[in-house]
Amino acid sequence: MNLEKEKCLNALEEGEILSRDQWKILLQAPTKEDARILAEKASKIRDQQYGKRIFIRGLIEFTNYCKNDCYYCGIRRSNLHASRYRLTQEEIMECCRIGHELGFRTFVLQGGEDPYFTDERMICLIRGIKEAFPDCALTLSIGEKERESYAAFRQAGADRYLLRHETADDDHYRLLHPPELSPKHRKDCLRTLKELGYQTGAGFMVGTPGQTPDTLAADMEFLQELKPEMVGIGPFLPHHDTPFRHQPAGDVGLTLYLLSLVRIMLPKVLLPATTALGTASEDGREAGILSGANVVMPNLSPENVRGKYLLYDNKICTGKEAAQGLEELKASMASIGYQVVVDRGDYKKNTA
Ligand code: SAH
Repeated sequence: MNLEKEKCLNALEEGEILSRDQWKILLQAPTKEDARILAEKASKIRDQQYGKRIFIRGLIEFTNYCKNDCYYCGIRRSNLHASRYRLTQEEIMECCRIGHELGFRTFVLQGGEDPYFTDERMICLIRGIKEAFPDCALTLSIGEKERESYAAFRQAGADRYLLRHETADDDHYRLLHPPELSPKHRKDCLRTLKELGYQTGAGFMVGTPGQTPDTLAADMEFLQELKPEMVGIGPFLPHHDTPFRHQPAGDVGLTLYLLSLVRIMLPKVLLPATTALGTASEDGREAGILSGANVVMPNLSPENVRGKYLLYDNKICTGKEAAQGLEELKASMASIGYQVVVDRGDYKKNTA
């Protein structure tokens, strides 16, 4: 590692706020050796904070209807080839029942921005899940809403919210989204979620068209300022029915490097080895853990809809039952020295 990079890394480890230039130094053409050094540091920090325990989240992709038209996403409204579905409350509750039986203590409701799921319907769903599974955490990932809606969901019992900022650079944001979506609104949503007491997740894709060391530096600056409890990072993967169909996929090595940087910057962060990472590379999720991640989010959606929540091509969605998938995950985590645990897996508060 060159001296300049090493200095910036030391500053980051000391908890200093890095300047744009310092971030750019850290992000400029990382070598394999740089990645190795960072992964080692990040792993050590994760082990100090959470041990060898890996938290699992049961992901329920409950609707793929979406009113938005993000250029990268396979379930964008303009994709007329997407086969649309939404789960009923009963079907969602059944996913939770199966998941609970298997040892999941967090459920993540993720979906497109589907107007069918009004605040009223969401509140009913949140209450239903929290009443039936009081020992579980509930995470929402349903996009941008007004403060009143976020507050009502929180009141109804939602604990966490995932809303990747996608990119912290305004021009880059506009390259990835149609004009009706605003980078400022997305960031405001994240700040609101934090204010309302959600454990909040931001994040971004790696290798989206137009991404540069400068935009990545802006992402890291934004994360350093927001201090989210969770950060989702995965490679961009093209989908054949989107405007970005011919764009190259994001780099797995750079994704892992960024996971390590995030762990070093935010030692207690809940950091998933994402599905996109597992799709881009066969041992992607394991590599994610070895780079500092401590969360995996297996799919709990019913098998008949799993093949329809296609944000990108070749998404891993085996016909496997949740139970079998989980057994395999436990075995693969064990093979690298980690243990999948039955736990809500909350953000570690500032206790000594
Ligand atoms: N509607 C919700 C959930 C979006 S899907 C929301 O707006 O937050 C969850 C994440 O998948 C997105 O935030 C995006 O970062 C990621 N994603 C979408 N399309 C992708 C693609 N083509 N490749 C990789 N990740 C993608």
